[in-house]
Amino acid sequence: MNVQVNAGECRMCPTVGPFVKSHIVPSAFVSPLRPDGEDATVRMYPTDGRAKNVWTGVYGRFLCPECEKLMQPWDDYGTELFLQESRVAQGPDVLLVGDGTFNYQKLKLFVMSMVWRASVCGHEYFARVRLDEREDEYRQRLLDSDPGTSTDPRIIIYKLRFPFGPVALQPCVYTLGDAKFIMIYFGEFVAYVQVDGGTLSAAAEEQVISEQDAGPLRAACRDLYDWELAGIREAAKERFRLQTRSGS
Ligand SMILES: [Zn+2]
Repeated sequence: MNVQVNAGECRMCPTVGPFVKSHIVPSAFVSPLRPDGEDATVRMYPTDGRAKNVWTGVYGRFLCPECEKLMQPWDDYGTELFLQESRVAQGPDVLLVGDGTFNYQKLKLFVMSMVWRASVCGHEYFARVRLDEREDEYRQRLLDSDPGTSTDPRIIIYKLRFPFGPVALQPCVYTLGDAKFIMIYFGEFVAYVQVDGGTLSAAAEEQVISEQDAGPLRAACRDLYDWELAGIREAAKERFRLQTRSGS
């Protein structure tokens, strides 16, 4: 279900007027996930069976045209870095993404803007992404193009190893040690964005994206967690059940 409000007060600025279509995760990350067959929906929607926007991913209407434009350079950067730039394996568990030094500001704003959009969009697919009292702080940061320091918020990016083709996973909350993160997936990658003040282990702290990092982005690689795999199985099962019931 997408939110069917076509006009109102922009969630980013005080403009009142028509909304534009805003993707939460840029659609470029969704199209490579489409299977070759007719039914792409299994891979996109977990339980509600409504898969209207499966071809381009989930979007909502909550921004004025100007504020949608504000996000474009960060979306473009994220798309370029994660989908077009070179990737070089450094050992079995680390991937170097991009050629030169990655752009700390644009990368963080790309991730923060996805999380903010997920938090405000009102779409049930993103229901578990809640910035709560940080929503307004993020909004201001995005308006100011301010990525914050490396610890505010901490962001860690993983490249996922899918046992079969890549799948779009539903964003969720994840606890690492005593720190709480929102996990948002885009293509074969996932970003962990810290939403509390908890401390990280030294090993996790080392993976946090920092403005001091030089050279390509280092993304650790990992297999899917068991609960991620279980979620995919459940989604496929539910989809199958709905299809069988509707006789299609
Ligand atoms: Zn606006």
